[in-house]
Amino acid sequence: MKSHTEYFWFETKKKVEFINITPQVESALKKSGIREGLALVSAMHITAGVWVNDDESGLLQDIEEWLQKLAPEGPNYRHHRTGETNGDAHLKSLLTHHQVTVPITAGKIDFGPWQQIFYGEFDGQRRKRVLVKIIGE
Ligand code: ZN
Repeated sequence: MKSHTEYFWFETKKKVEFINITPQVESALKKSGIREGLALVSAMHITAGVWVNDDESGLLQDIEEWLQKLAPEGPNYRHHRTGETNGDAHLKSLLTHHQVTVPITAGKIDFGPWQQIFYGEFDGQRRKRVLVKIIGE
């Protein structure tokens, strides 16, 4: 079994930002030479998310609004007693999950027609990273 690991760094301009990272994962897959296997894509932070869904601008706005509704920014989080101010970002990370596993078949990400991999930043404007680990043959 072969394995290939890469780290993608991000520093978003906004506090909340969603980035389609499918091209980076495809490029890591190409470098790996792996034809059959799995790719794990995992945010290395507790205030970010990784998910698979459509890259459609209306939907991305819907997701942002939905997350704001469920975990609004605000001062009333117990977590802020530690001096932090990002309670909402931790909850948004839980709602979107921190990682995905995607199938690799015949050297390609074996996705349905609209599936794309997203990095969701919920407490950005600083350097953060995503791990990609591809295993297989
Ligand atoms: Zn925190």
